[in-house]
Amino acid sequence: MSAAPQRLLIQGASVLGETTADLLVVDGTIAEVGSGLEAAGAEVVDADGLVALPGLVDLHTHLREPGREDAETVLTGSRAAAVGGFTAVLAMANTNPVTDTAEAAERVHDLGVAAGLVDVVPVGAVTKGLAGEELAELGLMHRSRARVTVFSDDGKCVADPRVMRRALEYVKAFGGVVSQHSQDPSLAGPQACCHEGELSGRLGLPGWPGVAEEVIVARDVMLARHTGSRVHVAHASTAGTVEVLRWAKAQAEEDGTWAVTAEVTPHHLLLTTDLLSGYDPTYKVNPPLRPEEDVEALREALADGTIDAVATDHAPHARHDKEHAFVDAAFGMLGLETALPVVAQVMVESGRMTWADLARVMSTTPARIAGLAGQGQGLEVGAPANITLVDPSAGVTVDRAASVSLSRNNPWHGRTFGAAVRTTFLRGRATFRDGALT
Ligand SMILES: [Zn+2]
Repeated sequence: MSAAPQRLLIQGASVLGETTADLLVVDGTIAEVGSGLEAAGAEVVDADGLVALPGLVDLHTHLREPGREDAETVLTGSRAAAVGGFTAVLAMANTNPVTDTAEAAERVHDLGVAAGLVDVVPVGAVTKGLAGEELAELGLMHRSRARVTVFSDDGKCVADPRVMRRALEYVKAFGGVVSQHSQDPSLAGPQACCHEGELSGRLGLPGWPGVAEEVIVARDVMLARHTGSRVHVAHASTAGTVEVLRWAKAQAEEDGTWAVTAEVTPHHLLLTTDLLSGYDPTYKVNPPLRPEEDVEALREALADGTIDAVATDHAPHARHDKEHAFVDAAFGMLGLETALPVVAQVMVESGRMTWADLARVMSTTPARIAGLAGQGQGLEVGAPANITLVDPSAGVTVDRAASVSLSRNNPWHGRTFGAAVRTTFLRGRATFRDGALT
């Protein structure tokens, strides 16, 4: 005897903010899209007034497990992802131990399966121990059950051009991509924490000049062209980077044999460097917050496709790592739970992008960059029912205490946003519903 099919009927959603339709989900797959759908025995979800988007995909999440389970775990980070409307997250490799072997990658993958709220896809380290010298087990990680396709030493830059070249050559063989944390270590050392300019001078904080990012982006673009491989620029933060990307993407498109993609974080789309004037470590992040002209260039680049995707760089930190004098505090901010409201405010409510554009930069394109077949598909018949329902006019004020993350380093505390995620479905199963985890 086989079990009866599980039916879910989402009624009256505004699909991608465009047409209103019902979505019938049968056994985790979208079976029908249309108006006035009926399904006997289906669980009905009233989506009147809600925008339906494909489940969000984050190319850049720090889940901290193994090693710093006091800041976040795969389970608590998965909860934050579900609350944020995500159905897949890529877990960065800078854990302890580092994700630089097939076994380490499979461990993270298995923890994600056990949590069961979101597809947790491990990112593999480019180099052993993130030391920047010897390549990690790139091929073995790819062939493992974790199917690692994105590699990054994030937190650190693959600074040696010879190592970067070899990594690009290596991942090319299986269609992998290297996601680079672009920070020339001699132009911006480990202490660099404030955009270099008048403010860093006045505050006496070590400067992190935009050119330290731009020279690495320019170099990597040339290495991608030389090797015929794929490079991804993590957390682009300056107008100069946008200029290089614009040139490189035009070149790559013409050649058709190599590719460069880029992401921007929600915080670099909205917050500016002047927030550092009170020395609040909540705003300490790497790369640092930039001046308004950089922020404006990033918004334009996201709208016109020069920047392909939004990625959170969700970086939870325990209180005792963050509550220090500014120079000694850890780098990073929470991002998963607030990404959609922030991007909606900056890009959609401002009229720069549509909801369909937002779906492209927060779901479809990141899934394509990471090679995730079961994610980022349209809300179409036959697609896995990874669906995020958004209330575009919820008007919610962020309270850091209400976060499901284990950490509290939330730069959005006290800010009010128009849009809010209401419900998240992972393959037809609600992981977050009407504002509550299930
Ligand atoms: Zn980084």
